[in-house]
Amino acid sequence: MPIAKRGEPLVIVDSVNKHYGELHVLKNINTTVARGEVVVVIGPSGSGKSTLCRAINRLETIDDGSITIDGKKLPEEGAELAHLRADVGMVFQSFNLFAHKTVLENITLAPMKVKKMSKKDATERAMTLLERVGVANQANKMPAQLSGGQQQRVAIARSLAMSPKLILMDEPTSALDPEMINEVLDVMVGLAKEGMTMIVVTHEMGFARKAADRVLFMADGEIVEEATPETFFSAPKSDRAKDFLSKIL
Ligand code: ADP
Ligand code: MG
Repeated sequence: MPIAKRGEPLVIVDSVNKHYGELHVLKNINTTVARGEVVVVIGPSGSGKSTLCRAINRLETIDDGSITIDGKKLPEEGAELAHLRADVGMVFQSFNLFAHKTVLENITLAPMKVKKMSKKDATERAMTLLERVGVANQANKMPAQLSGGQQQRVAIARSLAMSPKLILMDEPTSALDPEMINEVLDVMVGLAKEGMTMIVVTHEMGFARKAADRVLFMADGEIVEEATPETFFSAPKSDRAKDFLSKIL
């Protein structure tokens, strides 16, 4: 069955390898993410999912191979890297909001600093985004006054504020209490439906089924399987995927 592709390649990961000392943590990773595509990355703990995300955002160096985002190879450092990074939104498991800034300031900071947006424009846009993720009434609070689910929705709004071409999410709901998971997943599904290009590390199979065009299954630093969610969940090919699914489903 052909795998759904919605547009031109936005991210090209070509023969990427990475070691941590002796540990070969990414083993010849090859994948392409099309514009508007939603890719869910799953796999056992320690399989290299976070490292791959961090490499795509260049928070982590690679040993060889290349990563291209929107036609530009990820550079080593410098101003060009800062620009490329602004194109890639990142949402972490642990929210990572600035604790000493209000919710609103968390969102306006980067657009004002990096994109030189006026305070008025940045505030207007921030309020629109907070509205969209359902927490506009929390704008003047400090992050610690919000629930985990609210904080994670603010973190998503913050990444959207930079108008990224791609959003990477690394287990965005893993640190949340169960009753808050859905409010974050709903925002993620909404983004996917609107055509945001997303790479999401998650074990939330409901999200994968609802929103993913493709599932990448990683184990031991390799992409072991790559398939539509329907195919992957109903007919995993490898023993490693079968074993993994038997443990989480
Ligand atoms: P996953 O996100 O799939 O759980 P990670 O990408 O976090 O996996 O980790 C892959 C492997 O790399 C693991 O064995 C982990 O212990 C190791 N690792 C991750 N980060 C570092 C680091 N900074 N230094 C050394 N080893 C690391
Ligand atoms: Mg991880």
